[in-house]
Amino acid sequence: MAKLYQYVGSNEIRLSVADFPIGTRIDSVSQLEKWIAKTSRKPNIFSSIAATFVVDLKGDLCIADRHSEHIACAGGFPVLSAGEIFFGSGNRVWEVLEITNQSTGFCPEPESWFQVAESLDRIPIYRPDKFTIEFVFRRCPACRQLNIIKENLFVCSVCNTDLPHLWNCDNF
Ligand SMILES: [Zn+2]
Repeated sequence: MAKLYQYVGSNEIRLSVADFPIGTRIDSVSQLEKWIAKTSRKPNIFSSIAATFVVDLKGDLCIADRHSEHIACAGGFPVLSAGEIFFGSGNRVWEVLEITNQSTGFCPEPESWFQVAESLDRIPIYRPDKFTIEFVFRRCPACRQLNIIKENLFVCSVCNTDLPHLWNCDNF
């Protein structure tokens, strides 16, 4: 069963983006092309187009400008996954070149990939077999700091407290 990720970021961000437009649902390559045209992105063979993405409760991919907050892209709702996505068209067909689960607003686990894969296959669009960079998030049980685990070191970067091996980012 799919895990729902509730927003776990700061309340200031949640409130500051309350009026921002929701992400664009991408259900076909032509929809993606429309979004790219609308946002005036001009890729070339050497570049890629970056966007913020979430997988919404229906399992669809929604994208927004790269600098958008994930909570705005999600329209304030929980998500099945979230992160950054990079599209390219080097071989004249659109494909996903890079994709990560980097979202400090939702802190999705690498295991949420299968939801992402399904949303991309619905379009359908060529994609990698997993997140090209995986982020592991944990909240410090002592000081509540949200940490990104680096080199498998489960220690809080602020207070040095050991971090749990199970996901706990919704544990404020
Ligand atoms: Zn700490």
